[in-house]
Amino acid sequence: MNSLWTDILNFILPPRCLKCGKILKENTGLCTECFGEINFITTPYCHKCGHPLETVVSHDSKILCGNCLKKTRHLFRLSRSAFSYDEASKGLIVGFKFNDKTENAKFLAQTMFVAGADIFAVGIDVIVPVPLHLTRLISRRYNQSALLAKQLAKLSGCPVDNTSFIKHRRTRPQVELNGIARVRNVKGAFSVKYPEKIEGKRILLVDDVLTTGSTLKECALALKRAGAKSVDTLTAARVI
Ligand SMILES: [Zn+2]
Ligand SMILES: [Zn+2]
Repeated sequence: MNSLWTDILNFILPPRCLKCGKILKENTGLCTECFGEINFITTPYCHKCGHPLETVVSHDSKILCGNCLKKTRHLFRLSRSAFSYDEASKGLIVGFKFNDKTENAKFLAQTMFVAGADIFAVGIDVIVPVPLHLTRLISRRYNQSALLAKQLAKLSGCPVDNTSFIKHRRTRPQVELNGIARVRNVKGAFSVKYPEKIEGKRILLVDDVLTTGSTLKECALALKRAGAKSVDTLTAARVI
């Protein structure tokens, strides 16, 4: 859009802070105060799973957490999240996911693009959003992860694949469940419809929130079974 139309549009419908609704001079997503409240995940964090680390015991930027050190095989290559899912960020995510605040996608994807710098630096071939089951997609009218993937594609220049990976079985909302029930709930719920588009590819799996990781793990297993070369994960928020 040219700048005159942007100016007119901003005059009629000025950009507002996505959190508190305050009018913004520029469309930065959040006002300075709300931005300052978000707990962005910054170093030190585990190089592999992205979990924040309390203390730095080494200046090695590829430091691993205790969990990742114990593992001999990793399902994910790298995992990153932009900020902590807490009282300060909850409204942004809940509004985006359940209350049609699709305008949040742009800001959330911008924070994800910054948090995922390591992933984009090592290289990916395609961005794949965590899919919704068709009935959920019809009732919600949009897949919030697909909106994030679309914005990330614009920022990174990497293509999105919205059709090869599907959720073929309905599941209960993960928020209603805990621990092992979450794992069972999503078991075998995802599949690859067009394996030829996944085979040999470095996949970036995108979702809004990482809670226990059950959904992302189940997705990665299905993608790996279909021959994906690697799977990285990138979420806006993460429960810490
Ligand atoms: Zn604000
Ligand atoms: Zn780790």
